[in-house]
Amino acid sequence: MNNYSIAIHGGAGTLVKGMMTPEKETAYKQALQKALDSGYVILKNGGSAVNAVEVAVKALEDSYLFNAGKGAVFTATETHEMDASIMDGKTLEAGAVSLITGIKNPISLARDVMEKSEHVFLAGEGAMQFAKANDYQLENAEYFYDELRHQQWLGIKGTDGFQLDHTSTKPSSQKDSKFGTVGAVACDKNGNIAAATSTGGMTNKRYGRVGDSPMIGAGNYANNKTCAVSCTGSGEFFIRGVVAYDVSCLMEYKGLSLEEASDEVINNRILKIGGDGGLIAVDAQGNIALPFNTEGMYRGVRTSNGENDVLIYG
Ligand code: ASP
Repeated sequence: MNNYSIAIHGGAGTLVKGMMTPEKETAYKQALQKALDSGYVILKNGGSAVNAVEVAVKALEDSYLFNAGKGAVFTATETHEMDASIMDGKTLEAGAVSLITGIKNPISLARDVMEKSEHVFLAGEGAMQFAKANDYQLENAEYFYDELRHQQWLGIKGTDGFQLDHTSTKPSSQKDSKFGTVGAVACDKNGNIAAATSTGGMTNKRYGRVGDSPMIGAGNYANNKTCAVSCTGSGEFFIRGVVAYDVSCLMEYKGLSLEEASDEVINNRILKIGGDGGLIAVDAQGNIALPFNTEGMYRGVRTSNGENDVLIYG
């Protein structure tokens, strides 16, 4: 039997100790542990990596604390447009959705695109039609509403600016930039790996803006030969850096370990082009890497070797 493991993230950014109330810190840690455990129990019972990452991401989407599903950020037109993707490292099958609204769990719709359609990526109206054809119920705008995220949007509304998911509405000079995208990567008992990522994108983003999270190879990638990766950070840079696939390429073509490849991409290559953020990665032996070039990243890791950690700061 293979070692099995799961890692999750809830976004990276300016997460400095002392900036958050102890109550909020506890709430984040509890939400992360719950999501981690929901995926881990699937792996423990012999379930697949794909099932584990979907379930863990659903748990994060259901928490208003993260910028995915419930609690997603507001677009320039005061709506929620969400993106998600999932990839199976065993088969290299993948599913992605973008610019969707009203869907409680975008990651499940991405999985349905992977398994119930002939396509990899459905966006906008077409993705919504596919959801309706597959009996998805639509939630109203109140379900996704979060007061803090609405305040953040009001602070930038009407400008051309767009921003990453901020935790506070301080004056701009003190703004703490935080990316609240969520993701999970897992390795199951059979040595199969998978990755899932889900996001509301960026506050006040333009109608039709698509980030890295639903793009296979940029924000999400899985291949049993190398690694499964889920990213969080400034999407425009992560797209141009083809970050998730770059980690895989460094392992496949240069023979780097998971740790070395992940570190090279986050702390050197993406940083050089101006990208800030982080990623979580797993290989088919169950090894895990969680690098980030920001002050912190909401993250959790649980392995069959007994490791069980939920962390926020660097
Ligand atoms: N990468 C996401 C995006 O650009 C943002 C995030 O990680 O929070 O849409």
